[in-house]
Amino acid sequence: MTESRSPGYCRGLVDKLESEKNLSDEEFSSVLLCDDHDFDSYLAEKARAVREKIYGKDVFIRGLIEFTNYCKNNCRYCGIRGENKNAVRYRLSEEDIISCSDKGYELGFRTFVLQGGEDPYFTDDRIVSIIRKIKEHHPDAAVTLSIGEKEKESYQKFFDAGAERYLLRHETADRSHYEKLHPGNMSYEHRMQCLRDLRDIGYQVGCGMMVGSPYQTTEHLIKDLRFIQEFKPEMVGIGPFIPHHDTEYADCQPGSAEMTLRLLSIVRLILPEVLLPATTALGTIDASGREKGIIAGANVVMPNLSPKNVRDKYLLYDNKICTGDEAAECIRCMTMKVSKTGYRVVVSRGDHISR
Ligand code: SAH
Repeated sequence: MTESRSPGYCRGLVDKLESEKNLSDEEFSSVLLCDDHDFDSYLAEKARAVREKIYGKDVFIRGLIEFTNYCKNNCRYCGIRGENKNAVRYRLSEEDIISCSDKGYELGFRTFVLQGGEDPYFTDDRIVSIIRKIKEHHPDAAVTLSIGEKEKESYQKFFDAGAERYLLRHETADRSHYEKLHPGNMSYEHRMQCLRDLRDIGYQVGCGMMVGSPYQTTEHLIKDLRFIQEFKPEMVGIGPFIPHHDTEYADCQPGSAEMTLRLLSIVRLILPEVLLPATTALGTIDASGREKGIIAGANVVMPNLSPKNVRDKYLLYDNKICTGDEAAECIRCMTMKVSKTGYRVVVSRGDHISR
């Protein structure tokens, strides 16, 4: 018997992770692969305690506005990749986007996340104008962008217009894995450069990855954790990979909720102050996935604010939840789900504790 198999070994690693915020690669591997009874509840309990020390019982809500599903990119896993001829395309007008944010503000949102495919229609000037208008209407709300890879000058313009946060998942911190998941005209270097540019400009930055994406190994996940440790993002988006029927990965296995939850807890332990969403993909793979995410150390939820008539078109993966709900229903339902976990949704911008 090696030491790694002795009872309590994995729990000991969680204690070590909690106190040192770090483990060796081998130890991370043991934690990711541990099949001890009750291990996950032990890990989640530690992650929760750390999160409560910093953010108490508060859960921050972000109003997600999926404003375009046109995309010039062709990420192999994504349902709205440009070459998917079956995707029914839409883009919201500036007016629609502003009215979504107005409605969201009334519902208690103080952060708006503008997410979309990489849609050339939305030039820098158009994005700047949208940011300015949202900030004019709601100076006390934060604007987060999630619109992919741009040049530093564009990121700077958006920041100067008032956007303060940017979500750009790194997707995988292993170059050759990245190259498998993306076509040759997309590069690992550029994605990583974008994250550094965003950081240099002064954004609160979110990176992140899918769990269980095709070809992903435990070693890749450890590299993701190393990248997160080194980059120290303010936010980390982690969700299971879910196949989309119109992609080459249609028949691949989805990622598991269990592994996603484990990673949420680990990330909470290595970066105690991080803003960590319980994602829609987690809620899709497991009906109570988002509640479990909160219990595993997540402290952000992102209900959808997009108009009802376009909801079912922003399909990155199959069986996405909440595509038929009105924004008001979404927030009511989310608030209820959160309160059942013993936490509470708060009306707040929900900035990173360092800001
Ligand atoms: N165009 C923006 C937004 C991308 S969509 C950008 O490039 O950042 C947001 C995230 O959804 C992606 O970063 C990816 O991690 C995730 N995603 C895409 N396809 C998915 C799938 N099939 N299953 C799970 N998550 C997926």
